[in-house]
Amino acid sequence: MATRGPTTMDAGAVRRRNLSAVLELVHLRRGVTRADLTRALGLNRSTIGDLVAVLAEHGWVDERDDAPRAGVGRPSPRVVPRDARLVAAINPEVDVIDVALVSLGGAIVARRRVPLSETPTVAATVEISARTIAELAAEHPESTVVAAGVAVPGLVRTEDGLVRLAPRLGWREEPLAAPLAAALGIPVAAANDAHLGSRAEQSFGAGQGARTMLYLNGGPSGIGGGLVVDGQPMDGVAGYAGELGHASVDPNGPLCACGAVGCLEALVPRSALAAAVRLEHPDDDALESALLTAIVAEEAGGPVHEEVARQLRWLAIALRGAVNLLNPERVVLGGHLAALWRAADRDQRASLLGQALPVNAADATIEVAALGGQRLLIGAAELAWDGLLADPLSAGDATASTINPTRGS
Ligand SMILES: [Zn+2]
Repeated sequence: MATRGPTTMDAGAVRRRNLSAVLELVHLRRGVTRADLTRALGLNRSTIGDLVAVLAEHGWVDERDDAPRAGVGRPSPRVVPRDARLVAAINPEVDVIDVALVSLGGAIVARRRVPLSETPTVAATVEISARTIAELAAEHPESTVVAAGVAVPGLVRTEDGLVRLAPRLGWREEPLAAPLAAALGIPVAAANDAHLGSRAEQSFGAGQGARTMLYLNGGPSGIGGGLVVDGQPMDGVAGYAGELGHASVDPNGPLCACGAVGCLEALVPRSALAAAVRLEHPDDDALESALLTAIVAEEAGGPVHEEVARQLRWLAIALRGAVNLLNPERVVLGGHLAALWRAADRDQRASLLGQALPVNAADATIEVAALGGQRLLIGAAELAWDGLLADPLSAGDATASTINPTRGS
């Protein structure tokens, strides 16, 4: 077969790439002026004008003349996301299935948490998700749901959305994306929940603009992580990278659920922090607020201070390895690790990266995850948008009603 030289990339491919770049920027910045697009993408004004017109014609964006006037002349029109297309985001947990519709720009436009009386099977998850998405879609008849993403509390093969292991849900080697796509009639992708939390923070939260980022999330089932390298999520060859929860921090430590000893998540459990403030299964906000109250009320050296100090010491050891490996610009902490950071005093905060090589930690700042309880759903939506943003004209007609999921009901 004849091959093309690298210099003859066809005009269609160039146009596809440029449309994708414009739409990606409109998405990530939740609206941007034409002048900003021209500057950011290095394309001339008329090319930007053409690309925006094509995206508007295909129902992706609107143009508004509401940008503030900068200097003389007419203000540059603002290109904003249109809500004609939405994606569905799903996060199954032991006691709830959390479902949302998310617009371009990462805004949740509808959300429903479906409480469960027992841990869901994959079949139940598919059935409940499809029904709930259909209900939410029916409440938004002006929009079409075009794809879905699932944040799974476990290890997921991203290539085909096979759940290798989700210990808390009791799922092992279970196909998830395929049956859900069959029920919904739209493309579905699935990935690890911490990876998607990391993506959400990178796109719209505390990781915005960071080229190299380490994200660590502390949840009821342990500590998950996500990496961003050179501005891109780094998932590893099959989707399992970033498991810093199983970094060895104490060779003589307790047995971890993974079978090894002395893992970070075995030594820094959310449950111990909750027990110190006498709460059972608190959500992130309740845990953080109880912890901050207790730290102020309790004398130094009391049990809450001790537990916070103990967990921070182990976290610093894990961060030593990760920061030396990655040389990150930002470390983002979520869940109970964010609560731990907020409860730490100035010296403890300084010591968190204090064991890493000074040069490796020199440019790193520690931030608390900014998207709160929305981050997994927004991250799942990012996954769903991926294919569409890469090739905006591949999406069907935004006004077609046939791709609204109804078959699951
Ligand atoms: Zn482990």
